[in-house]
Amino acid sequence: MKTWNIDSERAMLDLGERLGERLQPGDLLFLSGDLGAGKTTLTKGIAQGLEVTAAVTSPTFQLRKGYAGRIRLNHLDLYRLEKPSELAMLEPDELFEEGVTVVEWGDLLKANFPHDHLDVAIEYGPAEGERRVTLRPAGQRFDDLIKEL
Ligand code: ADP
Ligand code: MG
Repeated sequence: MKTWNIDSERAMLDLGERLGERLQPGDLLFLSGDLGAGKTTLTKGIAQGLEVTAAVTSPTFQLRKGYAGRIRLNHLDLYRLEKPSELAMLEPDELFEEGVTVVEWGDLLKANFPHDHLDVAIEYGPAEGERRVTLRPAGQRFDDLIKEL
């Protein structure tokens, strides 16, 4: 486990970029945190690290958006999902086959698809404008990866 205090949007983008630079095809990340915590902001940084050139915007209404880069980015936001059966819309078998997958509000998916992953928890505080980011690796791959960050 590793924790940072992130004191600005810029610093969140930078952390995402460092993470994105180290990701490999097949990697799966679950981002948790209240609305406005910074999950999409971190994903924008990850996209920079993956050399995605298009602008990344929240996929809340589409559930899923894909971006070409050095490695493909699959960005999911499952906030609107109410039951696991709705995941069928996402063609889940394809989720992990190519690229890096970043999931906001992914608890339903996580329950259904045990798979090595990195849990990223973002909390408000400790001070105004700050966020506490905690990375919890599930699997050796992510143990090694977070040591480098
Ligand atoms: P989420 O996807 O978790 O709902 P967003 O990334 O869309 O959150 O929004 C985070 C908001 O919080 C942005 O408006 C961003 O500018 C703001 N913000 C303020 N301080 C920070 C910080 N330290 N880290 C990340 N975002 C911050
Ligand atoms: Mg978001």
